[in-house]
Parts: sequence; C-alpha cells; structure tokens
Amino acid sequence: MSTYTVSARKYRPQKFSEVTSQEFVTQTMKNAVVAGKIAHSYLLSGPRGVGKTTIARILAKALNCPNQKDGEPCDNCESCSEIKRSIHPDVIEIDAASRRGIDDIRDIQEAAKAHPMKANFKFFIIDEVHMLTQQAFNALLKILEEPPPYLVFVLATTNPEKIPATIVSRCQRFPLQRLRVSEISGKLKEISKEEKVKIDDESLFLIAKLGDGALRDALGVFDSAVSYCGEKITIDDLVSFLNIPQKEIYFSIAEFINSGDVKGALNYFNELSARGLDIQTFFNGLTEHFRDLLIIKSTSEEELIDEPDSIKEKFSAEAELFSIDRILRLMKILSDAENRIRLSSNQKIFVEVMLAELCRVDAEVRDLSEIITELKGSKKKFLTEVDSTNAPAKTEVHSAIKTNEKSVSGESSPSKDEIVSTLKQLFDAEEYKFN
Ligand SMILES: [Zn+2]
Repeated sequence: MSTYTVSARKYRPQKFSEVTSQEFVTQTMKNAVVAGKIAHSYLLSGPRGVGKTTIARILAKALNCPNQKDGEPCDNCESCSEIKRSIHPDVIEIDAASRRGIDDIRDIQEAAKAHPMKANFKFFIIDEVHMLTQQAFNALLKILEEPPPYLVFVLATTNPEKIPATIVSRCQRFPLQRLRVSEISGKLKEISKEEKVKIDDESLFLIAKLGDGALRDALGVFDSAVSYCGEKITIDDLVSFLNIPQKEIYFSIAEFINSGDVKGALNYFNELSARGLDIQTFFNGLTEHFRDLLIIKSTSEEELIDEPDSIKEKFSAEAELFSIDRILRLMKILSDAENRIRLSSNQKIFVEVMLAELCRVDAEVRDLSEIITELKGSKKKFLTEVDSTNAPAKTEVHSAIKTNEKSVSGESSPSKDEIVSTLKQLFDAEEYKFN
C-alpha cells in the first residue's frame, strides 16, 4: 500500500505556533488554556481552507494534554496522538453537511450527558454548522443553554450569517482571515525544502495565488505540480501544466501598447491564441497587470503587489514608461470591457478590438490636441469674419474664444475634459456664425 500523504494533511499544523497567520485566534486560545478560562462554545468562521478545524483540534489537544506548556499541546502523549489520529473517544468531529438532522443532534445530546471517558473535556467539533436544520439548531441551543462543565463545542462555518443569533450569542466568536499570498508562498517554500523539491520564486507565488487565500487549496496545486513536474518545478513547466499565461506576456503586451504598435499587439495575441490561450484568463491577467502597474506608479511601494522580486523589478521599470493618466485611461477601457466581454459572442474579436483601442489610447489624445491646434489656427480668420459682419453678439464670441485660449494654452497638456469643452465651445461658435 502506498504511504503517500497529501501535503495538506502531512503538514497540517499540530500546535498553535505552527498555524500560518490567524495569530489573533491562536494567541487568544493559548491564553485561555493557560488561564483555564475555557468557554463552552466557540464559533470559528472564515473561508474554506484557512484552518478552522485544524485550530479546533489543536484546542482539543491543548485542553486535554497532561504536558501542556504555555497553552501548547505536547503532541506526543497518548491523548495528543489519539486526537491527531481522530480516535480519541472524547473528541468527536461531526460534519454537519452530511449529518444535519434532529436525530444527529439528539445523538450529540445523549453523548453529551455522559462524562468524558478519559479526558478532562468532552469536545464536539461541528464542521459546516450552518448546514444544520432549524430543528437541529433548536436542539443544539438546548445543550448550549445549560452545558455540563466538561463540555466544549467548537462550531466551524464558512457562512456565519446563516447561523441563528440565539446560537451565535452563546459562542465566543473568532473570524478567521484569508491568508495573504506572501504567507502562503512562505509556507510553500518551507514545505518544498522539506520535500526536497526545487522550485523557483515565480512558481511559488503563482501557486500561492491560485490558493486564493486558502493554504489547503494552494497545497493541492503544489501536490499536482510535483506529480507533473517531479522534483524540480520551473515557471515554464508550471504554466504549461496549468495552461495559464506567464506574467511575461503581459509585459510584452504593455510594450506594444506603449509604442502604439497595434499590428504587433494583434499578431502577438493571435500567436498566443493559436497556442490555446484562454481569453478570459488573458483578459483578467491584463487587467491585473495594469492594476499592479498603477499601484507601483502611484505609491512606489512594491510590497503592495503579490509578486516575486524579479517581477516587481520589471514593474518598476515599466512604471517609468507610463504616466498615471495614461494608466488610468487604459484601466478605464479595461473596466468598461469587463462586463461586456462575458456577454460577447466572439471573445477573440472583442479582445482584438480592445487591444487596438489600448494601443491607440495616446494617439487619440494626440490627435485631439492637433485638432485643437488647427482650430485655434483658423480662429483668427473666423474672428476677422465675425468682425466684418458686425454681428451683434460679437463680444460673446470673443469671450468664448478667450476662455478657450485660457483652457488650451495652460502649461501642462490639456486634460480630456478641457479638450472636450474647448471643442464644444469652438463648435458652438461655428454654429453661431451660421445662424
Ligand atoms: Zn500531549
């Protein structure tokens, strides 16, 4: 029989100090164990894979461990070892997703009446507690209202809002946080060392990101990557295995956009597309790229983006090429496209048009400026004509043009709004002329 154990299980934290992130929860629990101030019911809420049942088990171990020190279980004694293997008779785990009825809670009620067989505390861990039926909640409430002194409930849920207030009010609440990408990648790095797997920083960050805040999910991706790539994981192998675009392609697209090279951008996109690029993933990646660029450009703080150092350096170099205004114009096009791309019947053409638009975004502004210069050039001729006709509202025309001059002859280049208002006034003036 194979001895292979998935990483999420193999590296499941056995002590509070081993839990990644969630310090607020683990420290409070350690303090409670040391002080002997144990609540009868705890409610751990938070997204999946962030360590709710892991923390519940560690608490059960710490409370029942004869060698407990500073609130931590020893993880060696009989009690700790039985809890670790889920065979301790006084630590009972229930998955409310599959055992949600009144009879299941009645079983708990019966079991709760009996004193613990060997431990100090009888421990019930109810996972996905929000799945219980109303009747089951009522029965649970009865136990929580008058719990015997040896009883501890840990309720875990991804949907705390679905739990009746009467239950919540009897619990000590701990909301668990989604893990940061850097926390997950740090943990992945430790584990890959332990497993003697060579992995580059870019791959670590990519896997950590795919975990979407859950260490367990990231470890799942890590395991698959190891089984595909073997003992050496490189970003090239990883992206081809996961079939997702490399960061590199967004830097190339940004280069085409920067030089206004529509043809280059479209050829490159078509090449990627022929290699099986997922268009929605590409779109999301490009949006994220310019969002990261905006952060680097506007804050100069590289730590705010979840990327390895090599990528952060590239962003800093790219930030030199783009002004904040220009990045905002690009982001505007991308965010306008966001809802429409989902509804588009041909996403490829949609993205091609959008790429052309992104490449032209500065050209459009330049063109408008040129138009204004031209219009300004013909202003004198126009004024002369107005003067010669001795039009009654001549002063109004003059003042409109004076305003134009102010708004277009500023030291900095005119903003889009200024250009539009200038054009509008010039056109109004033309209209007046023909009245
Ligand atoms: Zn122990």
